[in-house]
Amino acid sequence: MLDLLIKNARYAVTSNVKDEILEGVSIGITDGKISYIGSDSPEAKEIYDGTDKLISPGLINSHTHLGMSLLRGWAEGVNLQGFLERVWAAEGAIMDEATCELGTELGALEALLSGTTTTMDMYLNPVATHRGAVRVGLRHIAGPIFFDFPGLDGLQWHQRIERAHQWPAELAKIGGPYIPTYFMPHSTYTDSPENLSEVAAIAKELGARIHLHVSETEAENVDVQSRYSKSPTEVCRDTGILDVPTIFGHGVHLSDSDMVIAASKGASVGHCPGSNLKLGSGLARFNDMRKAGISVGLGTDSCSSSNDLDMFSVMRMAAHVVALRQSPADVDLAAIVRAATIEAAKAVGLGDRVGSIEIGKEADLIALDLHAAHLTPVHDVNALLVFAAGRGDVTDVWVAGDQVVAKRASTKIDLTDLIKRVNLRVKALEALK
Ligand SMILES: [Zn+2]
Repeated sequence: MLDLLIKNARYAVTSNVKDEILEGVSIGITDGKISYIGSDSPEAKEIYDGTDKLISPGLINSHTHLGMSLLRGWAEGVNLQGFLERVWAAEGAIMDEATCELGTELGALEALLSGTTTTMDMYLNPVATHRGAVRVGLRHIAGPIFFDFPGLDGLQWHQRIERAHQWPAELAKIGGPYIPTYFMPHSTYTDSPENLSEVAAIAKELGARIHLHVSETEAENVDVQSRYSKSPTEVCRDTGILDVPTIFGHGVHLSDSDMVIAASKGASVGHCPGSNLKLGSGLARFNDMRKAGISVGLGTDSCSSSNDLDMFSVMRMAAHVVALRQSPADVDLAAIVRAATIEAAKAVGLGDRVGSIEIGKEADLIALDLHAAHLTPVHDVNALLVFAAGRGDVTDVWVAGDQVVAKRASTKIDLTDLIKRVNLRVKALEALK
C-alpha cells in the first residue's frame, strides 16, 4: 500500500527527459520515494486531493547564503564591493553560532513556504546552520567554508582544515534529508591558490564536492587576472578544484574559453539573475553556458543582495535576462523550469535523487493552487510557472515524502515564535545604522 496518493492533480510538471507535463494524474509515494504515476487510484494510507493543483518537483536554489536573511534590506544602493563592506560589518557584530542558526531557520522556512525544497547554502558556522535548516525540514546542502584570513568566524587556516575532516561525521550526527558532502572555499579572490589546492586535495580524498564564487563581477576577473595572470576559472583548473565536481556561484563573466574549461571538467553554475541585476554585476550568458554543455541551475544568492528567496521571481528574471541579452525568441521556457528543477539537481550533485517527477526519485514535491484569477486560463504551463505563478501559490510541500508545509504553513516550527526571536536578535544591529 502507498503511504500517500496525490490524487487527480490537474497538472504534473515532470521535468523528465521529455519535459512531459501530465494532466489528470495521480502520484504515489512509498517510503519517501515516488512509487506511482498514472491515472488509477491505487490504495494509499493517505489521500491528498489534487483537484485544481499543479504538482511540480520542489524547486532547487543552487546558490544562497541563508543566514543572511537577518540582513534583508541592510545593504541598499551599493555594488558588490560596497555590499560586502556593509554586510561584513553587520556580520562581525552579530553572527555567532546561535545567530547563524537562527538566520538559517528563517531562510529555510522562507524557502520551503516558497516551494524550494533544496538549497545550496554557503555560510559561516555550517554545523549550526545545518542543524537549523534540518529542524525546519529543508534539504540543506552546507559545508565548511574557507578564507585565507581568520574572518568572521575567527578560525585559523589549520582549524578550517580540521573542520573539513570532521564535516562528514557532523553531517551524520545531524541527520535530515540526504545531501552530498561539500567544501565551500569562498572564491579565488579570498583564497590563495595554495590554499585552494589544499582544499581540492582534501575534497578528493574524502569524495566531497566543491562550491565557490566564480566570476561574479568584472572587477573580480580583473583583480584575479592581475594577481595570477589567470581567470578565476583557470585558477580553479590549475589548483585542482575542477578535478572534483564543482559548482560555481554566479559565473556572470565567464569567457568562452572559461566555459570550455568548465564544461570539459564537468563544472556547473548557480545562476543568480536577481542578485546580479540588483548589484549591477552584469547579465550572465545562460543560453551560452548551456550550449557549452554546462549544467546551469538557478539561485537567489543571499537575502541581502536579492532580498528574498523567491525562486519563482528568479525564474522570471532569468527569462527576462535572456530576452534582454538576446531576444524573446531565445527564451526557452522549459529550459528555465528545468534550471530550477532537474538541471539544478544535476548542478548540485543530486540529479539521480531529486529534481523530477519519476518513479524512484525522492518525493521532493510542491503543490500550487491553480484556482486563482492570475493563473487563469492556462494556455502554456511553463509560461504559467515562469511568468504568472508566484510563491504565494504554493500550498503544500513534501521533502523526501515528509509533508513540511501544509496549507501554506510549516508543520515543523512556529512562525510567530520565530519572528519574535529574529526581531529580538537583530536589535543588536541598531548601533550600526
Ligand atoms: Zn554568493
